[in-house]
Amino acid sequence: MNNQTVLVTGGTGFLGINTILALLGQGFTVRTTLRTLSRKNEILDALSEGGISTFDQLSFYQADLLSDSGWDEAAQGCDYVLHVASPFVAEQPKDENELIIPAKEGTLRALRAANKAGVKRVVLTSSFAAIGYSIEAKNHVFTELDWTDENAPIQAYIKSKTIAEKAAWEFMKNETTAMELTVINPVGIFGPILGGISSASLDTVIKGIIDGLITENAPFTFGVVDVRDVADIHIKAMLHPQAAGQRFLATSEGVMSFYDVAQLIRKERPQLSEKIAAMQPTPADQYTVMSNRKAVEILDWHPRSKEEAILASVDSYKIADPKN
Ligand code: NAP
Repeated sequence: MNNQTVLVTGGTGFLGINTILALLGQGFTVRTTLRTLSRKNEILDALSEGGISTFDQLSFYQADLLSDSGWDEAAQGCDYVLHVASPFVAEQPKDENELIIPAKEGTLRALRAANKAGVKRVVLTSSFAAIGYSIEAKNHVFTELDWTDENAPIQAYIKSKTIAEKAAWEFMKNETTAMELTVINPVGIFGPILGGISSASLDTVIKGIIDGLITENAPFTFGVVDVRDVADIHIKAMLHPQAAGQRFLATSEGVMSFYDVAQLIRKERPQLSEKIAAMQPTPADQYTVMSNRKAVEILDWHPRSKEEAILASVDSYKIADPKN
């Protein structure tokens, strides 16, 4: 047990629930915000599945990214805030502001409440979306120095994450405060599903491939990181003195294409091959290159392999092995 209190926003999310699990496992007192407290039991069930048996170090607060209500109470008395919540959807909305406004305004609400409460550091979950979507990938190694241009023709989610992260750094620039900000930029998050709490990307890619809904390789490759390692890097970034004022690209080594994921499942879980579509491989020179060196060197962060992350998701659907 330690005597520090951490607020995790978005406890009902795939990353949120895994971050709460990791923090409780390390003895932190944890608060989490939910849009509605009626979903509290889903969180308790998921954490029980993760091995937590007592919940006296966990409390719940109602707060919506689109409303001021509840944020000050949630942050008051906290040492750290991990702002994880942000709309993450598979379908493109008709109006991009459906994602941009909650992402940006929610980030500012979390920062304002944290600042008012005298929190030491906020760790913001941004994304590779804010790094890698307006730079020619060929012959480029993506790092924390790269930024997506929000004025480029990009999808609403990518724009929402870029604008939200920029707003957070802008807030810090304009505020005279002892509070610190650190940003984590994860690539596609995979890994095990806790208590049935999955995410849009995981469902789309893994189920899509296994069920044969993805019929062709896509003209891009993507980074993969395990949700347990993303939770871990948030905690490392929260505590490490050198993490203040930094952004960290959170990825395992290498990238994958839909073809690679399909091949991996075929090889390692052959019983699931039946519906997987035949696809053309991605040419070697079209693979994106990205670096996790900063997180490895500064935070001593050592993520699982992309293969382990993908197979953990596959196995979570409890269809990989009928004996599960
Ligand atoms: P998720 O499971 O969809 O979680 C999103 C969380 O945000 C949920 O708790 C959701 O609450 C909450 N949220 C959305 N709109 C809200 C609102 N208006 N008010 C309050 N809460 C709201 O997705 P995730 O994968 O865990 O994503 C967590 C974070 O990681 C996000 O910031 C996302 O952008 C980032 N990220 C994800 C990936 C990935 O591949 N999954 C990659 C890079 C970055 P409800 O349950 O009430 O909807």
